Amino acid sequence: VVELGTPTRSVITTCAYCGVGCSFKAELNGDQLVRMVPWKHGKANRGHSCVKGRFAYGYASHKDRILNPMIRDSIDQPWREVSWDEALGFAASRMRGLQEKYGRKSIGVITSSRCTNEETYLVQKLARAVFGNNNTDTCARVCHSPTGYGLGQTFGTSAGTQDFDSVEQSDVIMVIGANPHAGHPVFASRMKKRLRAGAKLIVIDPRRTETVEGPHYRAAHHLPLRPGTNVAVVTAMAHVIVTEGLMNESFIRERCDWDEFQHYAEFVGQPKNSPEATEMLTGVPAADLRAAARLYATGGNGAIYYGLGVTEHSQGSTTVMGIANLAMLTGNIGRQGVGVNPLRGQNNVQGACDMGSFPHELPGYRHVKGAEVRAVFESLWGVELDPEPGLRIPNMLDAAVSGNFKGLYCQGEDILQSDPDTKHVAAGLAAMECVIVHDLFLNETANYAHVFLPGSTFLEKDGTFTNAERRINRVRRVMAPRNGYEDWEITQLLARAMGANWGYTHPAQIMDEIAATTPSFAGVDYAMLEEKGSVQWPCNEKSPEGTPLMHVDGFVRGKGRFIVTEYVATDERSGPRYPLLLTTGRILSQYNVGAQTRRTANVVWHDQDVLEVHPHDAEQRGINEGDWVKLASRSGETTLRATITDKVSPGVVYTTFHHPTTQANVITTDFSDWATNCPEYKVTAVQVSPSNGP
Ligand code: SF4
Repeated sequence: VVELGTPTRSVITTCAYCGVGCSFKAELNGDQLVRMVPWKHGKANRGHSCVKGRFAYGYASHKDRILNPMIRDSIDQPWREVSWDEALGFAASRMRGLQEKYGRKSIGVITSSRCTNEETYLVQKLARAVFGNNNTDTCARVCHSPTGYGLGQTFGTSAGTQDFDSVEQSDVIMVIGANPHAGHPVFASRMKKRLRAGAKLIVIDPRRTETVEGPHYRAAHHLPLRPGTNVAVVTAMAHVIVTEGLMNESFIRERCDWDEFQHYAEFVGQPKNSPEATEMLTGVPAADLRAAARLYATGGNGAIYYGLGVTEHSQGSTTVMGIANLAMLTGNIGRQGVGVNPLRGQNNVQGACDMGSFPHELPGYRHVKGAEVRAVFESLWGVELDPEPGLRIPNMLDAAVSGNFKGLYCQGEDILQSDPDTKHVAAGLAAMECVIVHDLFLNETANYAHVFLPGSTFLEKDGTFTNAERRINRVRRVMAPRNGYEDWEITQLLARAMGANWGYTHPAQIMDEIAATTPSFAGVDYAMLEEKGSVQWPCNEKSPEGTPLMHVDGFVRGKGRFIVTEYVATDERSGPRYPLLLTTGRILSQYNVGAQTRRTANVVWHDQDVLEVHPHDAEQRGINEGDWVKLASRSGETTLRATITDKVSPGVVYTTFHHPTTQANVITTDFSDWATNCPEYKVTAVQVSPSNGP
C-alpha cells in the first residue's frame, strides 16, 4: 500500500478514454497524483464519471512504459536505446532517403484519436507540408468514417447534431448499434434518468445489451436484427412512416429537397421494403418493427444515438444516411430533444477528423482539391500543397505489399491489433523500410518498427480534446512528461530534423493557427476556453458562443438531402462450414484493445475475453459454460472460453476484443464500407467447436 497523502493542489483536465469527454479534477500531493475526481462544473459530465476515467489512469506510471527513444536497423535486431537527437536524426534520414529512392508519395502518417487536436494538427501538417503529400489517415477509418461521409452527404456536416443536455428533452430515444451502458457510461446515465422519467426506448441491436433493460426502465422495443441487415431495418422503418402517412410534411417541404424526397418516398414505399417482406432477412418480427417505427414517428421528440454497430459494415455509410433520412422524414432535427448523434468511441476521434487527418480533407473537412482552401495553408506554411488525395490506411498497407509505399509515422495507434485482417497488416508493415511508432508502450505494431519514439500521456500535456457533442475541452498538464517531451513537441522535433522550422513554444499557438485556417474554429483560443470552460464548434463570428445544436434554421448544406438506401447483402455469408455470425463489442471496465486499461487495476473486472454462445447453439456443439472453444472463420482461428447466454440470438455469437490473446482481428474479414473503407468488423461467418485450450 502506498500512502499518497492529502491533496495539496489540483488541475482541471479531460478524460482520455471515450468520446463523452468528462472533466476531472486531478488532485495532487506535490507531484504525486492522489486521485481523479469528476468535476462538477464539467459540461459534458456534470460531476459524474465511470470506472475508466475515475480509476484507470495508473497506466501512466506503469513499468511497461517506454521512456527513452529506441532504434534498430531491421526488425530482426534488438532495440538500441539512443538519445532523442540520434533517434530523430535516424528517422528523418531514413524517411528522406525513402523519398529520394521511391518518390515523394512513398511515405505517410497515421494520426491518433487519443492525442490532442493540436498534436493531430501537427501530424497532418507534417505529412502535407514536410513530406509533401496527403498520405494521412486516422483510426476513424476503422470506426466512424461512415459517419463523416453519411452525415456530410445528407446534412452537410460530419458531426452529431445535439449536445448531451438535449437527451433530457427527448420523448423517444432510439439507440442503434450502440451499447452506451458499456461504451459511453456517463451519457448512458443521463439517458437512463430520462427513461426513468418516462421517455420510451427503442434498441436496435443483435444482442440484448445492458442498455436494453436497467433499474426502473425497460426498452419499449428491442429489435434483435441479424448482423449485417441494418439498412433493411432502417429502410423498413421509413416504409412504415411513409406508407402510413406519419411523416412531417411541412418540415420536409420547408427544410429538405422536395424532389429528392419524392424519389426517396417512392423507393421506400415499394412492397419489397415493408417489414413483412424483410422479416425473413432481418429476423425482426414485422409487428415489432412497425410498432417501433410508429413510436419514433409519433411519440414526440425523437432522438437517435448510434455507434459502431452502424458504421462497421460494408453498408455503414448507407445506414448512416438511412438514419439521417428517418430524422428528416419525421422533422426530428434542429431543436432540443431530437437529432442524430454518433456516439464517438475515442476521446478525440471527433477532433482528429476535424483537424484534417483524412487523406482527402484539410482541417475543417475541406477537400484538398479546393485551390482557395489550399492557398490559405500554402501562404501560412510557405509550401505548395499536393492537390491529389492521399492514401487511406488500407491503401497504404496494400501499396506497401505491392512495393510502392515504404515509410510510416504512426502516432498513438496500434494498427496491428486494431485493424482488420491481421495477416495483411503484418505483411504491409513488414514490407516497409521505415516504420516509426510513437506510443506509450511497445505495442504489437512496434514489432515491425525501426524507430520507437516514447509518447506522453494525457496527464503530461496541454492541449484540447473535442468530444462527441463537438465540445472543445481543455487538457491541462498535471505532471511533467516522464519521457521528456509532450507529443506535439516530438512531432515538431521530427519536422525540424526533416528541415522544417515551425517554432511553436506552446499548444496555444497551434490552436491560434487552427483558428486562423479553419472557419468552424475561428473564434476559439485558450483565453476563451479558460473563461468559458469549453465551447462547441462551430465557434466563429456567426456563433461566438459556440453551437450546442446544429441545423436549427437550415441544414449546413442548405436543403436536407434524402438519399435512397438500397439494401445490399454483405459478401460475408454464413454457410454449412461457417454457420454462425460473429459480432463484437466492449465492456464497461475496459477500453478498446486494452493497451491502457489492462495496465490498471480495472483488469480485475475482466481478465479475458469470452465468447457468448446461445444455449441452442452450445447444446448442438456439446459446449458447456466456461469450456475452451475454437472460433474459426475463413480468415483464421483463435481459442477462447465460452459463456452460454440468451443475450445473443441463435445463430449469433459475440465477443469483446480487449485482450491481444483473443486475436479478434485474425478472425475478421477484409470486407469494408463501400464509401469509406471502414472495415466490416461486425459481421463474420464463423464455426465454433470444443477445444482443449490454446
Ligand atoms: Fe471517461 Fe468516457 Fe467514462 Fe467519462 S464516460 S469517465 S469520458 S470513459
